[in-house]
Amino acid sequence: MSGQDRRVYLLSPRTLSPETIAVAFAKTSRSPESFDVIASALSEEASAQFHERWVVGYGHASVAEHAVLHIALENISRLAIECIESNRLASYTEKSTRYQMWDRTAFVVPAEIRNASLGNLYRQTCELLLDTYLASLAPLRKVAQSAFPREDGESEARWDGRIRSRYVDVARYLLPSAVFANVGVTLNARSLEHAIRKMLSHPLAEVRDIGEDVRRVALQEVPTLVKYAQASPYLSRLAQTKPGPVKDDASGGANSEALGPAGGVFLRHADAAAEARALAAAVVRTEGLAYSQALRAMENSPERRRAAAQDLLGEMGQWDHPSRELEHVTYSVEVVADQGAYFEAKRHRMLSLTSAPLTCELGYVTPRWMAEANLLESYRRAMDAARGAYQKIAHENPALAGYVVPNGYLRRFLMTLNLREVYHLCELRARPNAHFAMRVVALHLAELVRQVHPLLGSWMRLEDLPDWESLEADYFLQS
Ligand SMILES: Cc1cc2nc3c(=O)[nH]c(=O)nc-3n(C[C@H](O)[C@H](O)[C@H](O)COP(=O)(O)OP(=O)(O)OC[C@H]3O[C@@H](n4cnc5c(N)ncnc54)[C@H](O)[C@@H]3O)c2cc1C
Repeated sequence: MSGQDRRVYLLSPRTLSPETIAVAFAKTSRSPESFDVIASALSEEASAQFHERWVVGYGHASVAEHAVLHIALENISRLAIECIESNRLASYTEKSTRYQMWDRTAFVVPAEIRNASLGNLYRQTCELLLDTYLASLAPLRKVAQSAFPREDGESEARWDGRIRSRYVDVARYLLPSAVFANVGVTLNARSLEHAIRKMLSHPLAEVRDIGEDVRRVALQEVPTLVKYAQASPYLSRLAQTKPGPVKDDASGGANSEALGPAGGVFLRHADAAAEARALAAAVVRTEGLAYSQALRAMENSPERRRAAAQDLLGEMGQWDHPSRELEHVTYSVEVVADQGAYFEAKRHRMLSLTSAPLTCELGYVTPRWMAEANLLESYRRAMDAARGAYQKIAHENPALAGYVVPNGYLRRFLMTLNLREVYHLCELRARPNAHFAMRVVALHLAELVRQVHPLLGSWMRLEDLPDWESLEADYFLQS
């Protein structure tokens, strides 16, 4: 083989440590040698010295992106998960509240409240919520069975497997944020360093402790790259929240914007002219025109806009992502949705997310099946008890009070996202196999986007789906 033949090969983590792989890649910047030759000359000690000098000392932080870790976290609260999953450049898979069930002891008792006067109230509230959750499963299962009858020749187990998410999707409204979660995280050492700093700066002791644990286990794999991660006063200050009572109506706007039974989706910022700009960008790519010339062409001619849009999106297959030019069109959207839906929305890493603290101040939603299963009274009792506990705990420690807030309570969040991410989110989350609360958000968002950008919005693959209002009415009662 000559030195000029093409070579494609792995630097395998089975034989090289993550830090050594990162150095082997980093050294290609100055060394004429091939990667495997560079790697064979490296020891873990030499790699550590390289990172100390270049990544830590000199600030060449992107090198750390080549050291990738897989971290397993178990029996942490869903509230703690919010901080862990706030890192964009990472991958997560977590235990599903749609397909798995929790027992009455499966919740975190945070150190701050363990021996405090409110400790008993905290435990009793979580137990009440979990007892009500467990007691709701059988009646909700009956409702699911009559809605989705057993098919010919279907075993009991198979039938239950087919309909389980339908009734667990409703029962999960009772789960407080204190319940245990497991999450597998894959991320590189650069992201991890920031993730640890954020965790160590968090107002909750549980999250800070997880940050210490994550740093401890990460040091076994990347002894240099996360060694200096520590709490930041700036991040600590940003993480402080002071949730207060909501003074305006929950939507924060005029009565015409009042929340519906599932909350609401409000398009706060969008620019109708952005459609022409994205199409002009596409023409720059295909025709090489100057942007101003392409933009003039798009602004002056509806026919040219239609043709450019057809060119850009018309040939998309079922699994194709729309072209990047859609990223030139952005929206800011305020959403008020239940905490379960928020928890799913926050997984969309491409969007910019700002969320209000988790509180009981916006009220809670009531899934229609709670009434059909004759569970309204116990559901409301549990939700009201959670609110009472929330208020008492919030009086002493607002951040801590979030632990007792169940999935059914509404959460306010703001998403700024581009049209390409709108396509992804709406198409994925509007599908019949997605949770119904998230489907309402996705379908509503798609409608708002299509109103402002009818041309570029029209290729979203949402055929044969219900409109969000009928879905909302099917699944939620007006509280
Ligand atoms: C029916 C259903 C069931 C689900 N069940 C579970 C579950 O049990 N457990 C669970 O943890 N999650 C579950 N999810 C969430 C799901 O796995 C996604 O994390 C979530 O929908 C966010 O979508 P995304 O990762 O595609 O998109 P985003 O984060 O919004 O990213 C948009 C797109 O960017 C690209 N992208 C983003 N980040 C990366 C990356 N790091 N590497 C490569 N490409 C990237 C991908 O093309 C992605 O589609 C479920 C989702 C659905 C719809």
